[in-house]
Amino acid sequence: MSAAEFSKFFAEIENTFSKEFATRDPQDLFEYGKDSTKVFEPKPAVVLFPKTTEEVSRVLKLCSKYSIPVVPSGGRTGLSGGAMAIQGEVVISLSKMNKMGPVDTMAQTVRVQAGAITELVHKHCEPHSLTWPVDFGSKGSSEVGGNIATNAGGVKVIRYGNTRNWVLGLQVVTMAGDILELNGSLEKNNTGPDLKQLFIGSEGILGIITEATLKLVTLPKELQVLFFAVEDMSAVLKLFHEVRKSPFAVMAFETMTHNCIEAVTAELGLKNPLATTASTYVLMEIEQPVTEKGREVLDSWLEKIFESGLVLDGTLAQSPREARDLWSIRESINECLAHRAFVHKNDVAVPVAELEPFVASMHALFETKHGTFEIAMWGHIGDGNLHINTLKPEAMDKGLFIEKCHEADQELFALIQKHRGTISAEHGVGLLKKAALHFTRTPAELVLLRGIKKVFDPAGLMNPGKVF
Ligand SMILES: Cc1cc2nc3c(=O)[nH]c(=O)nc-3n(C[C@H](O)[C@H](O)[C@H](O)COP(=O)(O)OP(=O)(O)OC[C@H]3O[C@@H](n4cnc5c(N)ncnc54)[C@H](O)[C@@H]3O)c2cc1C
Repeated sequence: MSAAEFSKFFAEIENTFSKEFATRDPQDLFEYGKDSTKVFEPKPAVVLFPKTTEEVSRVLKLCSKYSIPVVPSGGRTGLSGGAMAIQGEVVISLSKMNKMGPVDTMAQTVRVQAGAITELVHKHCEPHSLTWPVDFGSKGSSEVGGNIATNAGGVKVIRYGNTRNWVLGLQVVTMAGDILELNGSLEKNNTGPDLKQLFIGSEGILGIITEATLKLVTLPKELQVLFFAVEDMSAVLKLFHEVRKSPFAVMAFETMTHNCIEAVTAELGLKNPLATTASTYVLMEIEQPVTEKGREVLDSWLEKIFESGLVLDGTLAQSPREARDLWSIRESINECLAHRAFVHKNDVAVPVAELEPFVASMHALFETKHGTFEIAMWGHIGDGNLHINTLKPEAMDKGLFIEKCHEADQELFALIQKHRGTISAEHGVGLLKKAALHFTRTPAELVLLRGIKKVFDPAGLMNPGKVF
């Protein structure tokens, strides 16, 4: 994009839209040019705030006319650099497109604009005893469009699956400005390949999602939150297997290492909910059978678990407040670790059956080759998803630490490949994992993916440089 082309583009924007439509204020450029990766420097040329799909279409037509690169931006909570504008792009923020339609209680759907905040969608549906089951720590800021573009995972994937399962239809705008209605609100539509699915998880490289028809689920009734101390990963998996065989629906099954708990309790001035210190902990949320005997069934299951020696200690939340407190420990790990040290993050997954051998070989790798690094790990066990965090030793120079982490990543990714896993489980590829994509995707797949990108965006202007 030349400066002259950009000036002509910007003059058309100023002539066509209202004053609030565009900002070049340095603070806004900084805020809207970034996501939550904290690795790259935001440098967008301008940020635009459309309010309607038609405005998005007009802007994209102008961008195509002047060859202006575009970065779609949602709640900016992404952790892969997908929404980073680092080379003078035009950021299109969907944050003003946040309207939510009425909840259809018979079809159990709701149509929303892409900028609707995830948690506000939950609140919108709650009075109807329904919810959109996409749930994680950043739901107070992330947007539906961003969730769909990243095919977000989160803590309830074990029960409901990824975001992909909860989208019936999409409205998207392509770089040419074409508005596509993909599948509307149809549950069934067997008329060939489903284009909507291409946009789910596409990280903004194919087009801009402007509206979505979301599929809803009835709110679960008798939820119980439990917290256990266990010996090691082998015990975590045995406990997981036990609860899978139980009469309870598993809503969440999260594990975390002791240093995660230590960071949260120290940073937030909290007490460890358990008297026993262990290497590993499990936070479990289950839906108890809604019968008179539901609680008895849970108590006798717990008795069996304790008697078996599988858990070292445990607690069951006695009130919604206690349940929230246990969850807040889990959800504060990211932030509290970041207060403690500079953290290098990896979000990986292997098949559940490979978790134990993978974790053992990962520890062996770090112990033998990167002994100075401290690893803090948590994960969504039912999905085989682990968040592996390397903490910078206080005395080590940050540049050297990053260099060493990148070396260690190559070995870690090779291990993941050996265990038939993925280098990105739920955060996407963006800029951060682009160079490592070949550990998970074959050359033949990459050729096909590039071909798909070309069909939707022949000039390569939509979120350029992301994913591949
Ligand atoms: C504390 C914390 C906890 C998190 N926990 C989880 C978790 O458990 N599971 C999980 O999956 N993720 C998690 N994340 C990551 C992040 O919240 C998700 O990836 C989320 O879905 C991103 O949504 P967003 O609106 O913030 O998107 P953004 O960060 O704004 O954008 C993400 C990507 O989507 C594209 N995009 C955004 N909006 C659109 C649109 N309308 N059309 C087309 N493309 C678009 C962007 O270009 C970018 O590539 C967490 C993040 C934080 C900070």
